[in-house]
Amino acid sequence: MMRIWVNGGLRDADDARLSVLDHGLTVGDGIFETVRTSEGRPFALTRHLDRLTRSARGLGLPDPDHDEVRRAVAAVIDANPVALGRLRITCTGGLSPLGSDRGDHGTSLVVALDGVSRRPDSTAVITVPWTRNERGALAGLKTTSYAENVVALARARERGASEALFPNTADRLCEGTGSNVFVVLGGRVHTPPVASGCLAGITRALTVEWTGAEETDLPMDVLAEADEVFLTSTLRDVQAVHRVDDRELTPGIGPVTAKAMRIFAERAGDDLDP
Ligand code: PLP
Repeated sequence: MMRIWVNGGLRDADDARLSVLDHGLTVGDGIFETVRTSEGRPFALTRHLDRLTRSARGLGLPDPDHDEVRRAVAAVIDANPVALGRLRITCTGGLSPLGSDRGDHGTSLVVALDGVSRRPDSTAVITVPWTRNERGALAGLKTTSYAENVVALARARERGASEALFPNTADRLCEGTGSNVFVVLGGRVHTPPVASGCLAGITRALTVEWTGAEETDLPMDVLAEADEVFLTSTLRDVQAVHRVDDRELTPGIGPVTAKAMRIFAERAGDDLDP
C-alpha cells in the first residue's frame, strides 16, 4: 500500500487523514509541487522547494520548512519504491472554520508518491477559449485551485488530446493546464514570458537555459503558422506536439524539437539538481 507523509509522519494511504474542514479542501487554499523521481532520486528538488516558497508567499501561507520537506520527501521515496515516480508535495492552509478566512491552526504538509509511465514522445493538444488572468492574484503561483485546469484537460481528452493551451486576457499565448509551450518559427525557438501569466515552469527554465530559446510575447494564432510546437513539464520533459486543434503538424518529431529533447535528456541526466 502507498505510504504518505502527513504532518510529521508516514501513514498507510488508508489512514492518512486531514480534517474535512482543512482550508485546502474548502476553498483551495493550498500550494503544491510535482517532482519527478527516477530510481528513487528526485529531479531539481531545490528549484521545486524554491518555487513552493514563492507560491506560499504569494498566497500568504507561512514559508515551508525546506529541511522538513526534504526529510518527508526522502521518507516517502524510501517507503514507495517505483522506477519513475510522481512525487506530490502539498501545503494547505490547515484546519479552519467554514468561513473564507484562514484559521490559526497551523498548516498541513502532505507528501505522496506514485509510479507513472513514461509519456509518449509526441502528443496532440487543443486550444481553449477560457483565459489565464495574467493580472490575477494567483498568476504564476502553483496553488491547489486547479479546477479550471481540470475542466480544460477534460475537454482536451474528449477531443483525443492530452493538453489544452490557454490564451491570456490579451489573447496572447500563455501555457497548458500543466505544461509550458514552445513554438519554432523559422528555426528559432520561442516561449511566452512569465508576464503572460504562465507558471515559471522548471522544465521551461532549464530548456530556455540549455537551448537558448527566446522568451517572446506571442499571439494565439502563432499556433497556426508555427513550424513545430512542443511542451515542457516535470512529467513530460520536452514533448513534441503533432496536432494543434485540427492542424496536423509535420509527422514525426521536428528537427528543432528533437534537438531540444536530446539536449534536455543529456543535461538532466548529468545533473539531478540543476
Ligand atoms: N504550467 C502549469 C499550470 C503547471 O501546473 C505546470 C506543472 O507543474 C507547468 C506549467 C510546468 O512546470 P514544471 O516544468 O515546473 O513542471
